[in-house]
Amino acid sequence: MGHQGHYFAAGPAALPAPVKQQIQDDILHYQDTSISILELGHRSEAFTNILNQARHYMRALYAIPDNYQILFVQGGATLHFDAVPLNLLGSYTCATYIDTGLWSAKAARSAQKYIQVETFNGLQSQAGRQSCIDPSEWVIHPDSAYVHFTPNETVDGINCANPIKSPVPVVADMTSCLLMRELNVADFGCIYSGAQKTLGIAGLSVVIVRDDLLDRVHASTPELCRYDLHAQHQSIVNTSPVFACYVMQLMLQWVSEQGGVSAMVAASRQRAKIIYEAIDANECWSNTVAPENRSVINAVFQGQSQAHVEKLLTQAEACGLTGLQGHRKVGGVRVSMYNGTPLCAVEKLADMIGSIRL
Ligand code: PMP
Repeated sequence: MGHQGHYFAAGPAALPAPVKQQIQDDILHYQDTSISILELGHRSEAFTNILNQARHYMRALYAIPDNYQILFVQGGATLHFDAVPLNLLGSYTCATYIDTGLWSAKAARSAQKYIQVETFNGLQSQAGRQSCIDPSEWVIHPDSAYVHFTPNETVDGINCANPIKSPVPVVADMTSCLLMRELNVADFGCIYSGAQKTLGIAGLSVVIVRDDLLDRVHASTPELCRYDLHAQHQSIVNTSPVFACYVMQLMLQWVSEQGGVSAMVAASRQRAKIIYEAIDANECWSNTVAPENRSVINAVFQGQSQAHVEKLLTQAEACGLTGLQGHRKVGGVRVSMYNGTPLCAVEKLADMIGSIRL
């Protein structure tokens, strides 16, 4: 199967073919150095250029204002479930967490070690359909250091709109939607994302944080979790995950060349339309999320029976379509469609979803 296949896993996830080809070349010799990208030192000029370029692309892609730092931090998004409260607590006593699914709940549980967490249930259920409560109706505790939400719930397949206005800084876990969603960065205090879904490979995370929030860090925060230190040292605090940073820079360049975030969003909508139409047209499948809150990135659905699910997964695998197993906590099928997922792969899979019968 191998190279003919298409990969729909939730993350680590499919990378665009040209990015993988570039990586292949650079594994032996990186640009005009005589060494592999795998051997490149984190204090080298070539690596400084990689980070500078990555920052440059990221700033341009989202028109990030000058009073925001772009940080590259070793480790995944889970690290920031602890780092966010430690960095942003200041003299506040509580933070509000909007609960919309598995990942937002996990972030809230981690934060409880450091602060009083006020949880607001961001979902409602009507006529068997789940929908998100509009951010304008979130109840945010007035003493909150920040309000945390998860715009794209990767496991539950739920998409929640960005808040436009908030009395306290908004913190967003954008692990499965950064570079796939329009944003006005100025509406946020802090955005974080693991790299392995939409902008590269595992081992690296990106933090975009407003300057004035950097003086709130708790004194006992581990150095590698301190956003202020990362800002001060241009993200080279210790040995950087050089290869992961390099892949991220290639991804940012690729997204820019494709037309930027708006092009990614348009491609994403197109993929999602094809997949959800196939799900809705076949009564073997059910998805209980209200159409306006369905994730365009992770389509999650259940079969009438486990046999339907197994039939689809087996048939798909035989055709080289893999990574479709639902998350172990929710079962069913999950189709993850990130920036590296070609439309032809989605069309092929949609035909199969539409044709399954028992
Ligand atoms: N938040 C979200 C929304 C995610 O999808 C994930 C990973 N699936 C995480 C956090 C955890 O990321 P990591 O494994 O990089 O810690």
